[in-house]
Amino acid sequence: MGNVDIFALDEKTYSLDIIMVEAKFYRVEADHVVCELCPRACKLKNGEEGDCWGYTNVDGKLYASSYGRIVTAVYDPMEKKPFFHYYPNSTVLSVAANGCNMRCQFCQNHEISLERKEHKEISLQTLLDYSGKSHSIGVAYSFTEPLTWFEFLLDATRKLKGIGQKNILISNGYANEKPFKEILPYIDGINISVKSMRQEVYDKYVEGNLDVVLNSIKLAHDETHLELTYLMIPGESDSETEVGDFVDFVAGVGKDIPVHFKRFFPHHKMSHFVMTPNESMVKAYKIASQKLNYTYLTDTDIDGVSDTFCPNCKRLIIKRRDYQANLGGMRGPNCKFCGHRINIKF
Ligand code: SF4
Repeated sequence: MGNVDIFALDEKTYSLDIIMVEAKFYRVEADHVVCELCPRACKLKNGEEGDCWGYTNVDGKLYASSYGRIVTAVYDPMEKKPFFHYYPNSTVLSVAANGCNMRCQFCQNHEISLERKEHKEISLQTLLDYSGKSHSIGVAYSFTEPLTWFEFLLDATRKLKGIGQKNILISNGYANEKPFKEILPYIDGINISVKSMRQEVYDKYVEGNLDVVLNSIKLAHDETHLELTYLMIPGESDSETEVGDFVDFVAGVGKDIPVHFKRFFPHHKMSHFVMTPNESMVKAYKIASQKLNYTYLTDTDIDGVSDTFCPNCKRLIIKRRDYQANLGGMRGPNCKFCGHRINIKF
């Protein structure tokens, strides 16, 4: 595991035409085009670039200007993404493009999501080659918003699926339904992050629409392996009421969905906030555990909150520590004590 020197990636099959891929979702209106990939619906005149930096109007056509351009590549443990119920103890090549379609004031990756960063142009073949190195099982499109990398994502996921490698998305779920449905068949696992259950919080700190995100969660649940991350912003999204609303929503979609409550850290434009207190994290764990089968807390040293307990017999079946999972309580995908089928992919 570790960093890949993306600026030394092999360019053997790269050719300049790959940077001129036409966008799949846009319409032409008078003197501009309107991007239809996400709800921001950027209106772009000739030469203008979308808010996510992924699309540019060139002479009245919209092009996927971030196609084949990556700003980071690293081999990560699957548990770090976080995915606790998808190929435990595996490694995945994690890559990102520059830019995002949200404006999270707390973004931990703002250096690559909200600031311009030098990129590397790579071919699909290079991505495929690296996806299998260092025992990686595939590619995680991560760190920034992968859905605004749509055309590259579509081509890469199709190719990877074709050679039996896995495609993982770590996403804010902020895309229009049509493109989202088009990419889902190629996605083996997705972790969608929810920042709050109140639109005011999305308006104030994120620039996004909560209903769109919740709809993406429902769509993803029907189609692929889904895990969720809920951000515990102190005083904004960590109240018992709001956590309860989130838990009720998830329970309505599927009680077996693994949920990760993520501790908030003061960062970027919200460095004046405090870290989520342990008290709120523990309350969230207790509230969620009453209705959901797989609840986890991230970034805490509280014992047991990253372990898996059988929803049927309540015995400890997976112990996790430092991104390593001890599966001693499992027999295949079942609890070894009572035989209950666990929502986990191997
Ligand atoms: S995908 Fe990018 S360019 Fe398209 S509407 Fe969203 S932010 Fe704008």
